[in-house]
Amino acid sequence: MTTPKPVLIAGGGIGGLSTAIALAREDIEATVLERSTFTEESGAGIQLGPNATRILRALGVLDLLLPSACRPEAIWLFDGLSGRRLAEVPLGDTAERRYGAPYITLHRADLHAGLRAAADAAAPVSLTSGFDVSGIDANGELGVTDLDGTGLQGSSLIGADGLWSTVRKWMAPDAKLAFSGATAFRALVPRAQLQAPFDAPVVGLWLGPRAHLVHYPVRAGEALNVVAVMDGGQEAQGWNRTTDASALHAGFTRWCKESKSLLDRAEDWRAWSLFSLAPLRHWSRGAVTLLGDAAHPVLPYLAQGAGLAIEDAATLAKCLAGTPDDPAKAFRTYDAARRRRALRLQNTARRFGWAYHMRGPARLARNASLRVRSQEAALRQFDWLYGGE
Ligand SMILES: Cc1cc2nc3c(=O)[nH]c(=O)nc-3n(C[C@H](O)[C@H](O)[C@H](O)COP(=O)(O)OP(=O)(O)OC[C@H]3O[C@@H](n4cnc5c(N)ncnc54)[C@H](O)[C@@H]3O)c2cc1C
Repeated sequence: MTTPKPVLIAGGGIGGLSTAIALAREDIEATVLERSTFTEESGAGIQLGPNATRILRALGVLDLLLPSACRPEAIWLFDGLSGRRLAEVPLGDTAERRYGAPYITLHRADLHAGLRAAADAAAPVSLTSGFDVSGIDANGELGVTDLDGTGLQGSSLIGADGLWSTVRKWMAPDAKLAFSGATAFRALVPRAQLQAPFDAPVVGLWLGPRAHLVHYPVRAGEALNVVAVMDGGQEAQGWNRTTDASALHAGFTRWCKESKSLLDRAEDWRAWSLFSLAPLRHWSRGAVTLLGDAAHPVLPYLAQGAGLAIEDAATLAKCLAGTPDDPAKAFRTYDAARRRRALRLQNTARRFGWAYHMRGPARLARNASLRVRSQEAALRQFDWLYGGE
């Protein structure tokens, strides 16, 4: 059944586009309002676990991503100071058999292009770029306005407008993002001349005092995405700030030569400050709801914020399809269905970040416990996450 007015989605990022595609599968009309041009995602790489790729496959998106994606065979964990390999979490065929969907890594622009192509092909979805949702009127007919005053009406509004969400500010004006005290730096390195272990088809995770380093292949294996996260830095808004790399290199002076050689190879570092948000009391008010980072930003230590947004999209579409004429009820059901998992993920990510950056005796104890863990146990700890809800 088609609703008389479209569902409005503020934000055409990963969560917003996934939601539009999932709604189209339920034959619900959606209009995505994106302040930029949908193609501006220059960003870095992204890892998607089986919990996310299972949904993307059901939405017809996964096949569009696979040509540019990589399927890492494992996560290799290293001690960043000694360079010693500590543990391995098997991915590749093992994870795909266990969870019924692949673990992939890809460039964000490739993920956006796949979502955009699927959304373009899905009727009834309409994509409006250059629309910056700045006003929301939920008294009577639900409507939003662009910065220039242009108005649009819809049957409901989904705020998928990311970390600095305007819809969240409208719904929960007192909710304030807090700087987590850490900064992420990212760069892309051509993979052709890289040597072991950086040429391996794996996710590399190097743990060190007050910092960690992650790398994985993207762009069908042509480039290595490198992310370094360090405690400290400045509180600043924005995903893609150009940065002076000297602060980054200073944080890694005691690290092993392999990890420093990778940092040296990377040029054009971009930085973003990491923020967290105390859980909101409600994600929904009447016919307006929140999704993805707008509802529950996740620190990146589990590489799951986008996965969570994709899961939200699938659940939200099912809830709206259940009561298409009563979006407020659908949104309450969605909120109840998703809240516990989002909270568990946020808390687990915070704990992982704390363990990644351990110093002194705690670091040595962490390393010792990682070394004795079997590969089976290393993967099993993620069953709740990759196996879905
Ligand atoms: C360092 C780092 C590494 C990460 N790595 C991973 C990873 O490997 N795997 C993973 O799953 N997650 C990862 N994440 C998290 C992930 O990037 C986010 O959780 C994800 O992008 C959230 O998707 P979203 O759609 O909610 O928001 P976004 O992707 O931020 O999209 C929001 C969209 O809304 C638009 N918008 C904003 N305001 C308005 C407005 N007022 N009107 C209209 N449009 C608006 C924006 O332009 C944007 O397109 C990482 C995050 C960081 C910081």
